[in-house]
Amino acid sequence: MVAIVCTLMAINFRQRYKHFKAWQLRAFDWSFDKNEHHWCVNCENDFVGNHCPYCSQKAGMGKVSWASVVQSTAEVWGMHNRSLLYSLWQLMFRPGYFISDYINGKRQVSFPPVKMLLIMGVISLIVDHLLVVTDVTKEVVKSSSPLVQQFFAWLEENPGWGWLTCVCFFLIPTWYLFRYAPRNAKHSLPQGFFIQVFMSVQVLIVDDLADFFTDYFYLLIPLCYFYTYRQLFAYGFWGNFWRVFLMLVTGFMSVMLAVSITELIVGETEKTLVSSIETIGGLLALSVGPLVVGMIISKVTAGHRKHG
Ligand SMILES: [Zn+2]
Repeated sequence: MVAIVCTLMAINFRQRYKHFKAWQLRAFDWSFDKNEHHWCVNCENDFVGNHCPYCSQKAGMGKVSWASVVQSTAEVWGMHNRSLLYSLWQLMFRPGYFISDYINGKRQVSFPPVKMLLIMGVISLIVDHLLVVTDVTKEVVKSSSPLVQQFFAWLEENPGWGWLTCVCFFLIPTWYLFRYAPRNAKHSLPQGFFIQVFMSVQVLIVDDLADFFTDYFYLLIPLCYFYTYRQLFAYGFWGNFWRVFLMLVTGFMSVMLAVSITELIVGETEKTLVSSIETIGGLLALSVGPLVVGMIISKVTAGHRKHG
């Protein structure tokens, strides 16, 4: 008896997983009944589809109701039709496929991404305010140069733009290392920009979780990249692993590089000119070298994939 129940549960679970996998790959069904006619209340036009082709009023709109009260209020935040919550939901459970859909032109699948980032930024500020957050990062920041401190103060006040600025250091490394990926090969820099916008939303969520629970949640940031890029670029586990790892390392090196160069220009360093230039040269080598090697390996393995 127990064995039968267990088997049934296992079958059920496998089916559910199959459903989930299918949903991950294709979350939306845009097919509609071409024989179903609607009557537009606004312009009194007869049409087929979800919206009136003349005035774009939604099909099935009737008199104003309680639902309209809620909708109109939500609209102030830009939260009508493509729901913010549903986009966040997708960003959690099928992030790579979701981003892939968006950058390839299925714009209607997502709440406008930059707006989403800024709204999440405001929510994050409220969370910070309510929790009176004391970050570990603050201790680290205290010991750094005034320039870096200034940046962190700005980041704290503008979490949306702030995290976007941070993760944009991953834009070029991603563009380079994933040029020959099985999915989304040779993505453009604007596509790369939107990838990083979505990534900053994920990072912001992790940031809020860290505020709520423990700072160890920051460890989730690399995991976000592993998980999302796996779906977005479709490399195997290890192929994805070393590329994301290199991407994070070179991105981090380029942050250090930017800081060193700015400090040198602003004249905010105690180092001599020679040692500053040495540091900058070293960081430049560390941020560019691995990228070039990584890209050459990717090109070679992509060639094998084609022939094999
Ligand atoms: Zn109409």
